[in-house]
Amino acid sequence: MRAIRFHEYGGPEVLRYEEVPDPVPRLDQLLVRVKACAMNHLDLWVRKGTTKSPLPHIPGSDVAGEVVEVGKYVTGLRSGQRVLLAPMTFCNHCAQCAAGRQNMCRGFSVFGNAVDGGDCELIAVPRVSVIPIPDHLSFDQAASVPLVFVTAWHMLTGRARIRPGYTVLVLGGGSGVGTAAIQICKLFNATVITTAGDENKLEKTRALGADYGINHYQQKISDEVGRITNKEGVDIVFEHVGKATWEESLKSLKPGGTLVTCGATTGPEAAIDLRFVYSRQFSILGSYMGTMGELHEVLQHVFSGKLKPVIDRTFPLKDARAAHQRMEKSEMFGKIVLNP
Ligand SMILES: [Zn+2]
Repeated sequence: MRAIRFHEYGGPEVLRYEEVPDPVPRLDQLLVRVKACAMNHLDLWVRKGTTKSPLPHIPGSDVAGEVVEVGKYVTGLRSGQRVLLAPMTFCNHCAQCAAGRQNMCRGFSVFGNAVDGGDCELIAVPRVSVIPIPDHLSFDQAASVPLVFVTAWHMLTGRARIRPGYTVLVLGGGSGVGTAAIQICKLFNATVITTAGDENKLEKTRALGADYGINHYQQKISDEVGRITNKEGVDIVFEHVGKATWEESLKSLKPGGTLVTCGATTGPEAAIDLRFVYSRQFSILGSYMGTMGELHEVLQHVFSGKLKPVIDRTFPLKDARAAHQRMEKSEMFGKIVLNP
């Protein structure tokens, strides 16, 4: 099959479109023909070597496609079925997995990180990873959902315990995870304040339901949040930007508020004034992906049309370099999708 693969870490130029051996599924696995694989910021970390993925490596976490082969020990799925793949791997037998907390499993990883991913034509996966999709959802749409929606769902419901009527500051509303977060907040009738780098992106976040927009290059986030909330601050800050926004994020919280973070796209080191944390009784929560239960839960809202995947644009798989460059420059709004 053809795949995007890199043999050394580096810039987009290390990505090669090349012939690799077809995967051979085990008897307890299925073979899926990849129709669409969405990009995530993780693809950039993986390519740069930040996550130390094994080499050579096929990136790509979010796959939708068609079942082409069903292993002898697999039940409940048939050849030809349209599916998406849960973007995670886990042992499925440890105490955490048995309790449904797969994202705390010691063997937990994301597709395309510690193991080869979906930037290819065929992928062999265990039964537990394969989830049928409804006919009205295109492959591009389905691939745009899993990682960002399970991440945003776990952050807001599993970790920050969002309640109806909360006010939430969603950083980077034009990112994949931001577009998911805005919609999930609206599902809880929360008031959403979001940020983006230009007016065009802010306009699109309003179409997703954001109530207020802040241009994070031109305006000071905490000042604007103060103005919008009558100096009260927000209940939850939804963070994934890291260094560039961290201080403003903490300043935007109301006393007793919760900051939940799933990433650090602008850098991992951030300062915390502890006096500020204890006197205002903040909760600072880490969040990583989500559980299989949460994935199934959020998918129900996507399948029913209440939450909508947001596609920026699609590229042929062979043009993965151009897709990586687009993400590197933060030009996208929503998900970039590769088509084998
Ligand atoms: Zn486990």
